Amino acid sequence: MKVAVLTGGVGGARFLRGLVDTIDPATVTAIVNVGDDVEVLGLSVSPDLDSVLYALAGIGDEERGWGRADETWNALATVEALGGESWFRLGDRDLGLHVVRTQALRAGEPLSAVTARLAAALGVDTTLLPASDNVLRTWLDTPNGSFPFQDWFVARAHRDPVDRVRVEGSGRAQPAPGVLDALHEADLILVAPSNPFVSIGPILAVERIRSALERRRTPCVAVSPLIGGRAVKGPAADMLRRLQGGTTAAHVAQCYPGLIDALVLDEADADGVEAVAELGVRPIVTRTLMRDAPSRKRLAEAALDAVALA
Ligand code: GDP
Ligand code: CA
Repeated sequence: MKVAVLTGGVGGARFLRGLVDTIDPATVTAIVNVGDDVEVLGLSVSPDLDSVLYALAGIGDEERGWGRADETWNALATVEALGGESWFRLGDRDLGLHVVRTQALRAGEPLSAVTARLAAALGVDTTLLPASDNVLRTWLDTPNGSFPFQDWFVARAHRDPVDRVRVEGSGRAQPAPGVLDALHEADLILVAPSNPFVSIGPILAVERIRSALERRRTPCVAVSPLIGGRAVKGPAADMLRRLQGGTTAAHVAQCYPGLIDALVLDEADADGVEAVAELGVRPIVTRTLMRDAPSRKRLAEAALDAVALA
């Protein structure tokens, strides 16, 4: 069985770990958001690709959900002492990867090729693909102005309410090599419990990815990032309330109109199952908090079981 997963960073990385504990990692292709990518200190940083890469390589910081375990921050302390740009947290180990990637991109290597090389070097058997090799940049329009993603998320701590999400560059962006094949060849497509607006949205903003999903011949199952109408972490619930009108499971399903056949949702949101079913989406109720390896695996199994039900 082949599985393609659309994913952002932290929530997606946790989910992918459960998935590759359950099925052969080599049968999984992760299609990863690059709308958060940012240039810091002259370096090309791809936070979501890195969260997924570190998690699958077993070197990620589980508590934080991003960056590397056993990290130190000497380089950043030096940057700060010298009056350099220090708002974006880059650890010493993490920096090593950004240096390698930046050099490769400057030499003309596409992001997908660099990513494949990094994954192989770290012993990751799962295929990691950026949604696109073209530059995509997520912008948030808020009552306080428009901000590039990391300015809003990190520097301003995502406190500005979001009126609109725009993905600059999406009009011309093509899927990275391998993305459409992975979607066409998959026996199951999964949407990780990632932020629908700023993690999955920028992937779907690539027109040929969205249309491949619309025309899928295989089931697509999303996992809700909300538990009891609240995000485990981050701005997903606030964004759902403002942009989708609420935080029930049906509101989550409505983020993916015509794109999903089933939604895995938490027991705490089970009162919303009928409204999900009315949208033509099969609700699958389970416990969705991924706090350790067994709970991650159980959630992956629930999503995989959806194929049997389809
Ligand atoms: P980011 O790109 O690093 O922001 O990460 P994602 O978009 O992939 O994941 C963020 C989302 O993951 C948030 O909306 C969280 O609510 C969700 N999330 C994190 N941990 C869990 C979990 O254990 N269970 C579920 N269901 N969602 C989670
Ligand atoms: Ca992200």
